[in-house]
Amino acid sequence: MTTLKAVRGTRDLLPAETGLWNRIEATARSVFERYNFGEIRTPVFEDTALFSRGVGEETDIVSKEMYTWEDRARAQSEKTQQLTLRPENTAGVVRAYIEHKLGETGQLQKLYYIGPQFRRERPQKGRYRQFSQIGAEVIGPVSAGSESPLRDAEVLEMLSTLLDELGISGWTLKINSVGSASDRPKYIETLKAALAPIVSQMCVDCQRRAVTNPLRVLDCKVPEDQPFIDALPRIADSLDEDSKAHFAAVCAALDAASVPYTRDHRLVRGLDYYTRTTFEFTHGGLGAQNALLGGGRYDGLSELIGGPKAPGIGFAMGEDRLVLTLQAVEAAKAELADAYIAPLGEAQNAAALELARELRRSQPDRPGLRIELGDGSFRLKKSFEAADKVARTIVMLGEDEAKSGILTVKDFASGVQSKVARVELAAFLLSSRNKY
Ligand code: AMP
Repeated sequence: MTTLKAVRGTRDLLPAETGLWNRIEATARSVFERYNFGEIRTPVFEDTALFSRGVGEETDIVSKEMYTWEDRARAQSEKTQQLTLRPENTAGVVRAYIEHKLGETGQLQKLYYIGPQFRRERPQKGRYRQFSQIGAEVIGPVSAGSESPLRDAEVLEMLSTLLDELGISGWTLKINSVGSASDRPKYIETLKAALAPIVSQMCVDCQRRAVTNPLRVLDCKVPEDQPFIDALPRIADSLDEDSKAHFAAVCAALDAASVPYTRDHRLVRGLDYYTRTTFEFTHGGLGAQNALLGGGRYDGLSELIGGPKAPGIGFAMGEDRLVLTLQAVEAAKAELADAYIAPLGEAQNAAALELARELRRSQPDRPGLRIELGDGSFRLKKSFEAADKVARTIVMLGEDEAKSGILTVKDFASGVQSKVARVELAAFLLSSRNKY
């Protein structure tokens, strides 16, 4: 008999891995609760029409990737139905919002979810057919402020906090505005006109997209197509005054909150329901599948699936990719020394050697502290650069520190600088080693 295996694109998570998954979920729940979100759990399968109407017939997800089947009626009172394993969770959350008349409370609904999604994609590292998303949505009547750019900025600021608390540094936030429902058709016409004379020189996918869904051309990754795409008209130039002002207000609020971002004119995202703000967080450690999370505003989605006007904004992060990123971060960290001792001036070289010796000998039981010793002839900037490459922290030892026995320690991952008594330094370095 042939041995049965997990289906292509699906995986078992064994106890060696589930600890990290649980830690990620616990951190996400803790951050969401502090921002006053509550959890929602919607069914794993839904009526197919929810996705074809909500996500859009012409998107890759709906046209190629959904697990859909005809569910036979079991009794005369039942109808045979087309059902689909959810490929994403926003449409389900908005359906639940409508079904339970959550808009009638007059309040903004702030909902988060954690759970499996299903897409028949070509599996590779970071891309699976069953994967887990952690997401959140802010949705409600206009009178509750659901259209406000402050909501967009708050969601983005929350995400920067969540990534920081997960211990993921080095992310990039890209944002764009795809305009309102009325800006979009204008831009699509402009895009079609610009594509018409050149599309025959582009890839076959783009030739199809130029007819069925021209916005998707902007997502094309084929290298030869990039010069054509870069020269296409930008959506920013088709936005009306309200959409421009909305986007400017989101950017101003992000600036005020010191959340770093870059503007990406090509970020239109793969789902049709987005309006105005769209965004994506990427991480260099992920390789080809570098998107950690994506999201945006969907002011017309509720109406698309038969509900009242209920503007909203949300995101979904790939939990599988968070796990991969954190595993890479942890592997890189395991190679780093616990501290780099930086003598501030050559006069401190001898004292630095003595401190390094003390720390290296402080933990005779393995694994002991791993210490790198700098050189007092280095300028401070050079010491920092050297330390950042080889150690988790830098310990500065100048004349004042040598006299007072109070050392300044900077942790590179968190950016936090602490004053630590020399007698407590070994314990301090050991305890900070065990954080994420
Ligand atoms: P989307 O719903 O397409 O906006 O995707 C949101 C996030 O979910 C992405 O940024 C990925 O991190 C994750 N994601 C999407 N598709 C997959 C997949 N097939 N496998 C793993 N993660 C995925």
